[in-house]
Amino acid sequence: MIPTSATQSTKPDPTMASGWAPDGAVQDQIDDTIKDAVLRARAHIPAGAGETYCLECGEEIPAGRRRALPGVRTCIACQSALDRRPTQIGFNRRGSKDSQLK
Ligand SMILES: [Zn+2]
Repeated sequence: MIPTSATQSTKPDPTMASGWAPDGAVQDQIDDTIKDAVLRARAHIPAGAGETYCLECGEEIPAGRRRALPGVRTCIACQSALDRRPTQIGFNRRGSKDSQLK
């Protein structure tokens, strides 16, 4: 009934022990720069056109983040919130808060 074509039940898969699994919150802070770079590339934010204050919530974007991301327009919290949203809201220049806070 069970085909004995492969004897792969004894050895552990070496790929399982590579030790680099996404670990969540702790790694989140460290990976922030990398993540932002990815987000920026994905969103096609032009470099050099960044904002000092977040277009979403009006909070000042940390200087380090702005320096790392010349074209950044949102704070970290808003950026991750936008990224988590199922329907991607484009990075248009209009930061209409009315439609956001519904
Ligand atoms: Zn914000």
